[in-house]
Amino acid sequence: MYKIAVAGTGYVGLVAGVCFAEMGHQVTCVDIDENKVNLMKSGISPIYEKDLQELMQKNYNTGRINYTTNYQAAYKDADAVFLGVGTPEKADGSADLSSIATVARQVAESVEKDCLVVVKSTVPVGTNDKVEQFIQDFLVHNVNVEVASNPEFLAQGSAVHDTLHAERIIIGTETEWAEKILKAIYEPFHLPIVSVNRRSAEMIKYASNDFLALKISYMNDIANLCELVGADIQDVAKGMSYDERIGAKFLNAGIGYGGSCFPKDTQALDYLAKQNGYELKTVKAGIDVNKEQKTVLYKKASNRLITFSGLKVAVLGLTFKPGTDDLREAPSLENIPLLLEQGSDVYAYDPVGADNFAKVYPEGLHGKGNITYVDCVEDALQDANVCFVFTEWGEVKATTPQKYQELMRTPLVYDGRNIYDVEEMKQAKVEYHSIGREPGKRQVTKESAYDFQST
Ligand code: NAD
Repeated sequence: MYKIAVAGTGYVGLVAGVCFAEMGHQVTCVDIDENKVNLMKSGISPIYEKDLQELMQKNYNTGRINYTTNYQAAYKDADAVFLGVGTPEKADGSADLSSIATVARQVAESVEKDCLVVVKSTVPVGTNDKVEQFIQDFLVHNVNVEVASNPEFLAQGSAVHDTLHAERIIIGTETEWAEKILKAIYEPFHLPIVSVNRRSAEMIKYASNDFLALKISYMNDIANLCELVGADIQDVAKGMSYDERIGAKFLNAGIGYGGSCFPKDTQALDYLAKQNGYELKTVKAGIDVNKEQKTVLYKKASNRLITFSGLKVAVLGLTFKPGTDDLREAPSLENIPLLLEQGSDVYAYDPVGADNFAKVYPEGLHGKGNITYVDCVEDALQDANVCFVFTEWGEVKATTPQKYQELMRTPLVYDGRNIYDVEEMKQAKVEYHSIGREPGKRQVTKESAYDFQST
């Protein structure tokens, strides 16, 4: 059992802390946000993730996890301090490392015994070397502090599962001492561990994320061409998926990737390459395709309609993917302002993301347009002139083509997640536009459709 402190209680830090506690370690989670800390102490998770709140309560009740803003108390006698603070994108595309630097300084000034500092946050290659030097420079007590890299690969929406059943744990260390401690911390998880040096570990994270982002952009690029030449992207993806070198996952076409990782990590790797005098042409292309893709349905609808002004527009899904309340880089954030600018009357539904969206766009008038949040799919669709599907939530997928026909004033649907069968929509007399699929063309049958992993 190790005494672990975790800095930052977002998607990465809180989930890691809770899972370490679940594995028997003694964990203190530190955050600068006092409201969050009080919420967590009262047993409520500040973020929506399946199973998280239950595990928080269970481990809090057994005394294996605690929450605090008092970093000195948490860091001073910790065996390991994990960093899960944010590394958002700066205006120039580089990663903002200010929170990492703040925690590094706090650790240096607090630790009173030998301690392993483990960077879980996604940081550019070489950052861990700097963090170690920075800590040595500001160290107050005569103790040994080393830094290890342990990038995180969880996906929001399945973060707890992904942590407890990770496909691999990457550990990047420079000494046997650091490697031994980190392996011992992860020993109770019984997961495959890949042990490399720090810089390789940092690069594994970026190379993996950027590869996945590229895969999405590649399929979206092909989908756009499919539309022009009369091919069907789902049939194409199915045919591709049998090739094990390609794999069956992440082949869905849609309105582009969002979230807190792919957009900023592609930008950060592009920036890192440029800084080193190299141009990563593939990653750059992936970024460009994604930028265009986010508004591809809005552009289609603009070509179809004379105006959005005065139209009731149903928006189904606000979060960047199902299973999370996270809106970062979600297509909704790109499209809804465009709809409001054009004077649409937007009725938005999202099972968990509406409160967060309303913080950015409170209910009411925004320029020429109005936004209202509703509690169910039906209320959004009622009397709507047009509908956009941005997130493939279960309740949206379960909405039948007949419902669109019955409830909408004009059943005109733009689906950014390809969740409906083109033929069924046609039979229900719904004018249906999706990504990379020709209306009226034969679709992959339900029985034979491959289970592509959602992006
Ligand atoms: P987040 O923004 O959800 O959470 C960061 C937390 O850190 C916030 O609660 C903030 O209050 C806290 N914080 C800021 N400064 C602090 C300080 N000095 N001390 C203690 N807490 C502090 O971030 P996230 O989504 O969990 O991402 C964290 C890192 O992990 C990023 O580098 C991200 O790229 C990476 N990552 C994220 C995911 C993901 O799916 N979200 C997956 C893999 C990796």
